[in-house]
Amino acid sequence: MLIDSHCHLDFPELAGDEAGVLARARTAGVAGMLTIGTRLDQFERVRAIAERHSNVWCSVGVHPHEAKEEGQRTPDRLVAATHHPKVVGIGETGLDFYYQHSPRDEQVESFRAHIAASRQTGLPLIVHTRDADRETIDILEEEAGKGAFPGLIHCFTSGPEVARCALALGFYISISGIVTFKAAEDLRGGVRDIPLDRLLVETDSPYLAPVPKRGKTNEPAYVAHTAAKVAELKGVSVGELEEATTANFFRLFAKAERQQCA
Ligand SMILES: [Zn+2]
Ligand SMILES: [Zn+2]
Repeated sequence: MLIDSHCHLDFPELAGDEAGVLARARTAGVAGMLTIGTRLDQFERVRAIAERHSNVWCSVGVHPHEAKEEGQRTPDRLVAATHHPKVVGIGETGLDFYYQHSPRDEQVESFRAHIAASRQTGLPLIVHTRDADRETIDILEEEAGKGAFPGLIHCFTSGPEVARCALALGFYISISGIVTFKAAEDLRGGVRDIPLDRLLVETDSPYLAPVPKRGKTNEPAYVAHTAAKVAELKGVSVGELEEATTANFFRLFAKAERQQCA
């Protein structure tokens, strides 16, 4: 049994075939999934998907790309949205200085508001970070000094400093299909160094389909290919990897109930 810890079921590539996407996931051994909020004005659609399926949970957040339109200054709206049984995480949030669709200062401000929401609710922070290793580390460490909060680095592609910082803060690290890409040798080296009890797997679908589905629309079923590669890197069986990442998911996202996968 696998859990896809990060997908976007509300995006048009997947939303048009919701029943098919969920059926194929189940056939592939993917028993549950977390569909991620990226905009507050889309949040009700995301939450509605989680309400329709017992084995789908959701998060609430504003993606760093959207910070210039929807960036949050306070945790209030995020916290209010968590008063629902299927909302189990805060994000995705963070810093994206690669695309930089929003000004850096607005990304930072919104990131800090999400951290405050995570601290207030105790729900895990889902961090997106790209080309912003140093700034991400500085903010996480400074904010952790004001009071602890749980979380994960999603779609991990950063250097060893971010991994070290995340692990020291008690965070988890989620690996996407990028780990199967030919050019991702550095990432594969990094994954070998992450303890098995801190690893999660994800698709980030509809993007980043793993080999051998590369170039297709990604969907939760394909997380099995990523899990197989991570198992190989960690030197464990696929079964052990599934068991560990699933246990890790429910330990981190403690509001999600495992029996809802049945
Ligand atoms: Zn992301
Ligand atoms: Zn995402």
